[in-house]
Amino acid sequence: MSDKFDVIVIGAGPGGYVAAIRAAQLGLKTACVEKWVDDKGAAVLGGTCLNVGCIPSKALLESTHKFHDAKAHANVHGIQVGDVTMDVPQMVARKNQIVKNLTSGITGLFKANGVTLLQGMGKLLPGKQVEVTAADGSVSVHEAENVILASGSVPVEIPPAPLTEGLILDNAGALDIEETPKRLGVIGAGVIGLEMGSVWARLGTEVTVLEAMDDFLAAADKDVAKEAAKLFKKQNLDIRLGARVTGTEILDGKEVLVRYTDSEGDKEIVVDKLIVAVGRRPQTQGLLSADSGVKLDERGFIFVDEHCRTDAPGVYAIGDSVRGPMLAHKASEEGIMVADIIAGQHGHMNYDVIPNIIYTHPELAWVGKTEQQLKADGVKYKAGKFPFAATGRAMAANDTDGFVKVLACEETDRILGIHMVGGVASELIGQAVIAMEFCSSTEDLQMTIFAHPTVSEALHEAALAADGRAIHMANRKKR
Ligand code: FAD
Ligand code: AMP
Repeated sequence: MSDKFDVIVIGAGPGGYVAAIRAAQLGLKTACVEKWVDDKGAAVLGGTCLNVGCIPSKALLESTHKFHDAKAHANVHGIQVGDVTMDVPQMVARKNQIVKNLTSGITGLFKANGVTLLQGMGKLLPGKQVEVTAADGSVSVHEAENVILASGSVPVEIPPAPLTEGLILDNAGALDIEETPKRLGVIGAGVIGLEMGSVWARLGTEVTVLEAMDDFLAAADKDVAKEAAKLFKKQNLDIRLGARVTGTEILDGKEVLVRYTDSEGDKEIVVDKLIVAVGRRPQTQGLLSADSGVKLDERGFIFVDEHCRTDAPGVYAIGDSVRGPMLAHKASEEGIMVADIIAGQHGHMNYDVIPNIIYTHPELAWVGKTEQQLKADGVKYKAGKFPFAATGRAMAANDTDGFVKVLACEETDRILGIHMVGGVASELIGQAVIAMEFCSSTEDLQMTIFAHPTVSEALHEAALAADGRAIHMANRKKR
């Protein structure tokens, strides 16, 4: 048995590595266990997010957006570019380099903060002991005052579409396609399906997205979902709703036949590659000994309370492996909250104000309640909506699609939700999150000075519109 740690974190994704750094900052003797290794046997830090999730997908989205913008819109500015072509292997290599820079950055942060990295598969034993099985097979056991489980999630696989090298891909495989496919199928019109579909549609691939549910983006505000559906159609994303995939067949080792059923009966399409993006499930296999005292809920997530405490005293769990949205920033903030609590501080996590973003173009972003949720809850609310097409800065940027919508309590004026579709909605939503975190009213936003000309003015105007006093648009209701 080696030295005792104050904290052992299992998993070095955005939940685990952030928790480990924060714990070390607070003076706690901290170790982080990670099982992922590269081809040289060295630990790979950063988890799903940095290696096969948020960052690589955004790198490909940026590259293809620039390509498409140059090809389709440069002439609007008077820029003559001639033939625009994409070197896909170069695009993928750039993405890989960004991943490498970021993941090695975490190694540096661990060193700088004095976090001990334990390479290997971590397993929680009773009494806050952690068994670590390294890639070379050696086993060690470490003791801790506190353990934080941050084992993340893995893609859901479905029997009708078993992964097949180079043809039927999960989210990791989808990030490494080295040649623009002529036809791409995507199962699932969720965040990952829409982002990956957008990447290839921009490069000229015929993209068909098959979604089992009848509603498009059911979790989003209905105005956001409606606007997004309209814009994606214009971008040649063929999104088929109510289409449940029932089977696949590999044709001649090079094409995929996809069978699905919709309200009209059985149908099929043939594609060159198929991406399975039907969601993710918690990763808990081999993580817990039978007598660890930690329990799972009925959906397989590690059961925790609102402070991320499991059923085993001194053992916490955070991120994708516990309830709540599967988002990197949610995982990180839970990591900080738990480290603070362990160090005797209060710990803060506001589950009502977690931003959601889909990084298509335009981007979809929201925080707080949707209009349909407020209706279902019987809340009396007011709404203000302002289109980017009415802001000078969006016009200057040739990026006028979308709007900002502010929902607030009719009685108290407190902001309850902000929803947007827009070119830089992922950045603008931060202002909405700050407003809601500080329990702002629409009046607070109305009285705040927004710089001109900026796309943020749409947020200001939407807040004004909630009271019928937008300036740069005719108001539906007058004040
Ligand atoms: P993970 O990132 O999954 O990390 C868990 C780590 O624990 C892994 O490194 C794993 O190897 C390790 N581990 C597991 N079990 C053990 C064990 N027993 N012993 C040792 N190590 C173990 N979220 C966003 O917020 N924004 C986005 O733009 C976004 N884009 C995404 C795009 C894609 C394609 C995907 C797949 C996901 C995306 N996500 C995004 C989701 C985001 O990646 C996850 O929410 C986030 O990574 C969860 O962090 P985590 O630390 O809980 O788990
Ligand atoms: P998300 O969980 O946001 O990544 O979205 C995954 C989507 O995949 C959900 O909207 C599911 O309805 C959809 N889905 C799951 N199984 C199937 C299937 N067999 N065929 C088509 N869509 C599916």
